[in-house]
Amino acid sequence: MKQEYFERKGNALYCEGVGLREAAEKFGTPLFIYSAAHIKERYRNFEEALKGYPHHICYAVKACSNIHILELFAHEGSGFDIVSGGELQRVKEAGGDTKKCVYAGVGKSAEEIESAVKAEILYFGVESVPELERINAIAAKLGRVARIALRVNPDVDAHTHDYITTGKSENKFGLTADKAEEILKGFSEKYKNLKAVGLQVHIGSQITETKPYKTAVLKAAEFVLKLRSQGTELKYFDIGGGLAIVYKDEDPATPAELVKEVLPIISELGMTFVCEMGRYMVGNAAMLVTKVEYVKENPDKTFVIVDAAMNDLIRPALYEAYHEIAAVEDKAETFVCDVVGPVCESADFFRKDMTLPKVGEGDLLAVCSAGAYGFTMSSNYNSRNRAAEVLVEGDEMTLIRRRETYEDQLNCEKTCR
Ligand SMILES: *Cc1c(COP(=O)(O)O)cnc(C)c1O
Repeated sequence: MKQEYFERKGNALYCEGVGLREAAEKFGTPLFIYSAAHIKERYRNFEEALKGYPHHICYAVKACSNIHILELFAHEGSGFDIVSGGELQRVKEAGGDTKKCVYAGVGKSAEEIESAVKAEILYFGVESVPELERINAIAAKLGRVARIALRVNPDVDAHTHDYITTGKSENKFGLTADKAEEILKGFSEKYKNLKAVGLQVHIGSQITETKPYKTAVLKAAEFVLKLRSQGTELKYFDIGGGLAIVYKDEDPATPAELVKEVLPIISELGMTFVCEMGRYMVGNAAMLVTKVEYVKENPDKTFVIVDAAMNDLIRPALYEAYHEIAAVEDKAETFVCDVVGPVCESADFFRKDMTLPKVGEGDLLAVCSAGAYGFTMSSNYNSRNRAAEVLVEGDEMTLIRRRETYEDQLNCEKTCR
């Protein structure tokens, strides 16, 4: 399997020591099932690659923000890359160290900034001048000094899907180097309650090669030298996130390979290495287990209709993303079919024209590589309850999010009566 901690034993699929059938029977479907060992291993791969060099590894919370998953990262000593006040709240709830948080995003609200200043986060990744002014004013009001890192858009093509590329000049993210330079001139006089501590580049997601990283880091390094000549010293060099995982037949660079390419450049500058991986850490940590409701035979197509839908995992509908689908129990025969959900949209499919073991009503399927941007992008569309989540550690499984109820869904409306 492409997911190291999922394997076939006998004729059935397991996550570590837990059978997917057993988990589904206990907690129902659709069900996200995560391997704790996978997450820890992924985090440690980065630690190992950076050993002996000043570094700060952040986990990008938006990839999978369940507080029990965040707890795993907190126990490893990880920092967190957050993009909202809600994510900051989750980090706190999980016992994460808010002083190790970096905060990205183009639209931080005043309330969000205030809570992050109070939580003494490591730095704000600043994306515009008005934002800088707002953070300065809020820090002044609170009598604090907030740390910031300028997010520079290196105008690099990460060769990934258009919707997940962020480092090109046409994207909404970051500042141009010229603008950043202008901001940093006379910075301490202009922004008395801010301290500029770093530079950040984040060029996109699901990046398989080291080359776009190297190009971006080289550009940013040149910029650091220029700033130095003007008297600005920065501590943190933040390469962003984006390292790819295997969904199909990709051959992504490993953390060791990535670090080998870019660390010499950063080390030459004497700066602390920061990264903010999300997908790499959790993408292949989970499968989405779903039950077959019906097999519908049309004259020219067979549809396997399952109880999970685009509201549970939107990546195929949104990005035309590929997800492998496996039958939880082996079957003797196969057939060609579309695997679709019950939502009233033609985009509600997981795979089209795939060869699948010949499953029938009540059989279980696993949608693979569902750990990143899976549950976190799920919704209540069609008034469907969001799925439950289970964390596996060895032979033990723990419910880490109970299935929603209709009452949960209606609550925010009924309380307005
Ligand atoms: C989304 C995001 C990440 C994580 O991206 P992955 O592709 O999941 O690694 C890191 N940094 C920033 C600023 C982001 O917006």
